[in-house]
Amino acid sequence: MVQGRARRWLAASGRMLLDAAFPPQCLKCGTIIADAGALCDQCWPRLRFIEAPYCARCGVPFGYSAGEGALCGACSARPGRIALTRSVLHYDEESRDLVLAYKHGDRLDLAPSFARWMARQGREALAGSPLLVPVPLHWWRLFRRRHNQAASLAHALAREAGLCVIPDLLERVRATASQGDMRSARARRRNVAGAFRLNARAAARVRGAPIVLIDDVLTTGATLEACARVLLHTGSKEIRALTLARVVRGQDVT
Ligand SMILES: [Zn+2]
Ligand SMILES: [Zn+2]
Repeated sequence: MVQGRARRWLAASGRMLLDAAFPPQCLKCGTIIADAGALCDQCWPRLRFIEAPYCARCGVPFGYSAGEGALCGACSARPGRIALTRSVLHYDEESRDLVLAYKHGDRLDLAPSFARWMARQGREALAGSPLLVPVPLHWWRLFRRRHNQAASLAHALAREAGLCVIPDLLERVRATASQGDMRSARARRRNVAGAFRLNARAAARVRGAPIVLIDDVLTTGATLEACARVLLHTGSKEIRALTLARVVRGQDVT
């Protein structure tokens, strides 16, 4: 009893000492702030979170309120294989540095904050105890970068939301050119066609559960769609996707 209290007192004083030596800093600009894992008053309002209204299916933001359950033109015309896609942030000048610093492994400390935001913004995608599946990197890229940002986001989110990850359910069989270098949506689709394969051993764990694909940035959705095409063979009852950021061009509504 006394021991337990002493330990708690030591832990609390340790934290205070640690805070005094390394006070919490804004995730973006490094200004000293009150709580760890947050942004300062200047940086916070500049990050643009993706808020409703958006397409009920692919999550693309609408510039106007279209009513609950409204779909964008693309989803009405040709719904893809992903039943529901959600993203946390607009990928813009304000979020890019954070997202890239994480991707390249310089700022792995961002993971718990990103996971908290993904759990909050992705509530719909995470309903019904889905399995989390990161978009894989080709082994050569993983070897060079030593960090798969999608996998580490999936693990952090699993901890935050109390869910399971199957990190090796998908395998990248072909090294593809960076999607960022592809100009058109069609070039992006062609670039990732046939790039993914199912790991049959890991697929036995799915047993009909919904799957949420996890990635850092959604650009045209071609990579997620190529993954979903493969994941349908697991017998999962629904494939969804959740990304940290999303490129939103203009109003984006077709
Ligand atoms: Zn700041
Ligand atoms: Zn849509």
